[in-house]
Amino acid sequence: MSDHKKYRRETDLMHAGRKPDDYFGVVNPPICRTSTILYKDLAAYFDPNTKYRYGRVNNPLSQSFEEAIAALEGGFHAITASSGLAAITTTMLAFLQSGDHVLMVDSCYPPTRFFANKQLAGFGVDIEYYDPLIGAGIQDLIRENTKMIYLESPGSATFDVQDVPAIVRIAKQNAILTVMDNTYSAGVLFKPLSHGVNISVQSAAKYLGGHSDVNLGVAVADDEAHYKKLKSCAVNLGTCAAAEDLYLAMRGLRTLEMRLDHAHKNMMCVLSWFERRKEVQAIYCPILQKSPGHKTWKRDFKTTNGLFSVLFKPEYSMEQVGRFVDALALFPVGSSWGGYESLIQPQDMKSYRSNWEKEGVFLRFQIGNENPQDLIEDLDNAIKFLRA
Ligand SMILES: *Cc1c(COP(=O)(O)O)cnc(C)c1O
Repeated sequence: MSDHKKYRRETDLMHAGRKPDDYFGVVNPPICRTSTILYKDLAAYFDPNTKYRYGRVNNPLSQSFEEAIAALEGGFHAITASSGLAAITTTMLAFLQSGDHVLMVDSCYPPTRFFANKQLAGFGVDIEYYDPLIGAGIQDLIRENTKMIYLESPGSATFDVQDVPAIVRIAKQNAILTVMDNTYSAGVLFKPLSHGVNISVQSAAKYLGGHSDVNLGVAVADDEAHYKKLKSCAVNLGTCAAAEDLYLAMRGLRTLEMRLDHAHKNMMCVLSWFERRKEVQAIYCPILQKSPGHKTWKRDFKTTNGLFSVLFKPEYSMEQVGRFVDALALFPVGSSWGGYESLIQPQDMKSYRSNWEKEGVFLRFQIGNENPQDLIEDLDNAIKFLRA
C-alpha cells in the first residue's frame, strides 16, 4: 500500500501485506500453494533479481505476510517458519557458532531452553541463564565471547517483565546481538525493535492466528545485514511455512488488536476472582503489583493479554487441584494460548527454571472470549472440589 505510514497503528494493520492490484482486486492475498515457480525464460533463471524462485524460499503469500509482520514490528524484513519454535531455533543458529557464549533469560519458553541446552550446547555453544529482573546488572555476566543476549518479556509461566532498554544499552556498548521472543505482545503490546532489539521473534500460533488452528513462526530483523544472515540460515535449514497457516495468520492480523483488548478485559475479571481466593499462594500477571517486574511493565506497557498463572498453597496436592480442574466445564486442559477459548495448563516449574524453590501446584490460565460471568460461575462451582 502506498503512503500507509501516515496512518495510525490500527489503520496500518488493516493494510499491511495486502496487494489487491496483484490479484484482480481480490481483498486478501490468496493461499499460494507452490513448490515450483516457472521462469519465463532461461535468462530469468539466471537473473539474480528474479523475485520468486522456489516456493520454500519465497512466494507471493509468504512475502506478503513477511512484509505485514515487518510493518507490525517496525523492522526491515521478516522470515517465516513452520512454528514459533522453528523461528527461534533458526534465529539462534543464524547468529551463533561453536565457542560463543549466550545469555538466556531464565524465564524463557521451556522448549527454547531445551533446544539451547541440548542442541546448542551439543554444538559447543556456552549457555548461561540470567535472572529476568537483572536489568543493567547483565554487564557483570558479559564475557569476551558473549555473542547474544536472548530476552523474552513478559516471560513464560511467571510473566517476569524485563528492563529491555537497560539490557539493550549494555548489549550495544559491548556489540552483542539481542534477540527477543515477543509472542506475549503479539507485536502489539510491546515493540522490541523500537527499543533497539535486533531480532524480534514470535509464534503466530498464539494471538496472531488467534483460533488454535495455526502452526507458524516469524522473526523480524532490524536491518538489512541481520535480515540477510537470518534469511540465508533459514534457506540453508529448509525453514519455511505452510500456505494455509500463512493465510490464516494474515487474516488474524486484521482483528488482532480487538482480540487482544478483549482478552485483557476478560482476563481482568477472572483475575480478580483469583485475587480473593485464600487457596492461592501467588498470582503471576504483570498488571499486579507483586508480579515480577511490575514497575517495568507499568513503564513500558499499557495492557496485558489474556494470560496469568496461579501458584496454589503447598497444602493443596496435585490430586486436590486436579479435582478442581476436572470439575471445571469451561477450562479444558490444553497447551498453547491466544485462542478464543479459556484453557489451563500445568507448569512444571522445577524443570523450567534454574532455581525454583517454591512449593505448590502451578497452573497457567488463558482466558478466552466466553462471557466472564460464566467463567466465574464455573470457577465458583469447581473450587468446592479443591477443599473436598
Ligand atoms: C508458544 C510459544 C512459542 C513457540 O511457538 P510454537 O508456534 O508453538 O512453536 C515460543 N515462545 C512463546 C513465548 C510461546 O508461548
